[in-house]
Amino acid sequence: MTVHIPFQNSYAQLPARFYTRQNAVPVRAPRLIRFNMPLARELGVAGGSDPELARIFAGNEPPEGATPLAQVYAGHQFGGFSPQLGDGRALLLGEVLDAAGQRRDIQLKGSGPTPYSRMGDGRAWLGPVLREYVVSEAMHALGLPTTRALAAVGTGEWVYREAGALPGAVLTRVAASHLRVGTFQYFAARRDHEGLRALYDYTVQRHYPHVEGPAHLLAEVIRRQARLVAGWLSVGFIHGVMNTDNTAISGETIDYGPCAFMDVYHPQTVFSSIDAHGRYAYDNQAHVIVWNMAQFATALVPLMPDQDEAIEEFTALVHAMPDQIEAEWCRAFGRKIGIADAGPQDAAMVGDLLTRMADGRADFTNTFRGLVDGTARDQFLDRAAFDSWAEGWRARLAHEADPEGVMITANPAFIPRNHRIEQMIGAAVAGDYTPFERLLTILARPYEDQPEAADLKHPPEPAEVVSQTFC
Ligand code: AMP
Ligand code: MG
Ligand code: MG
Repeated sequence: MTVHIPFQNSYAQLPARFYTRQNAVPVRAPRLIRFNMPLARELGVAGGSDPELARIFAGNEPPEGATPLAQVYAGHQFGGFSPQLGDGRALLLGEVLDAAGQRRDIQLKGSGPTPYSRMGDGRAWLGPVLREYVVSEAMHALGLPTTRALAAVGTGEWVYREAGALPGAVLTRVAASHLRVGTFQYFAARRDHEGLRALYDYTVQRHYPHVEGPAHLLAEVIRRQARLVAGWLSVGFIHGVMNTDNTAISGETIDYGPCAFMDVYHPQTVFSSIDAHGRYAYDNQAHVIVWNMAQFATALVPLMPDQDEAIEEFTALVHAMPDQIEAEWCRAFGRKIGIADAGPQDAAMVGDLLTRMADGRADFTNTFRGLVDGTARDQFLDRAAFDSWAEGWRARLAHEADPEGVMITANPAFIPRNHRIEQMIGAAVAGDYTPFERLLTILARPYEDQPEAADLKHPPEPAEVVSQTFC
């Protein structure tokens, strides 16, 4: 039986200036590394031997019904505006309607150069492909909106990076869509108001059918992004490249590059080798997303009949966003300390704990998980600092119905720790995929104690610490 993907493509129906149609550039020796069978079922993707799946998801054989295309977009990268970016190493194969009736993009990443590649080779190496596979699937299991990984295929070709020749790979990514803030910016910057209108209509129809008008769309995207970023903060996630082209209109986490989860808690933590000034540091993410939504608002202004009125209305929406993030943060972190419906007093208690964690060099994940099983204090250099906080906390929990039940579903035991990701990549490059498979298995149930995987809970030993990530 050959691979069948029930494509129902809509992006390819948009005006030709939204994309460039082209096929993937075939690779020398496609080899299936991993295929996500449960996700395939959800998408209605059926059939296929491993070699067939490898050929399709390497881009060597365009599947029947696909309309491969590279999407064009713009974006602010580290604050500087690029009027034209676009898929430089990705191709949208098309869309399917999933089991729930939701339209999902199926995209190849690392499928060869496109007109938007600039200086790049259009390829990806194995490391980032496996990192995105593991981290995006972990994010999904943690309960946060994210793109998913459908397949990873080795290309049998070398990719040349600073580190030298590295094995090439292609990732198949599934997303609610690849519409970005940068997609709106592209048409707005070119004063292509007809294109902007077509994009707006498409976005509303696809993601926000109840929305009436650009202000309403802005409010909805702000709402989803506020929740998403608070969710990232609550699991210690640092995206690493929150450029406006990496901010999805759907509210999903997208574009896993030099991303990482924190071990030791510190609010200014940065991993990305290209983030020299810490623009996208852990606790800056809540500010950056507001800035990104301001750019989205700016791109929407030309859609409004009265521009002055629009600017006033949009500005008010953007200015209200920090309070929304604060409320989402309070809800998420309240749950982490066992409070079902946290108020401002509780937020102060969380803030106090975080300060002590930073001073005490406490592991973020193990401290919160340790609130459930009594091992939190062991995470602190100075245990007395935890004990004095915990007195007030225990008194507060006396008023809660089921604090353990709340905490156990808010504090994962397992996150994709950076040193484990790096070790997994090293093993895979040497031909051993067992650590990759094991991480996927354990991280699929992050809130469950899995005693056989106690080693994956440990923070890195000093020699294992990964202080920088590369894309
Ligand atoms: P990112 O930082 O991953 O969001 O990438 C920013 C832009 O650079 C996007 O337009 C990518 O498609 C493009 N890009 C990244 N890596 C490559 C590559 N190896 N070849 C071509 N384009 C690339
Ligand atoms: Mg990107
Ligand atoms: Mg990227």
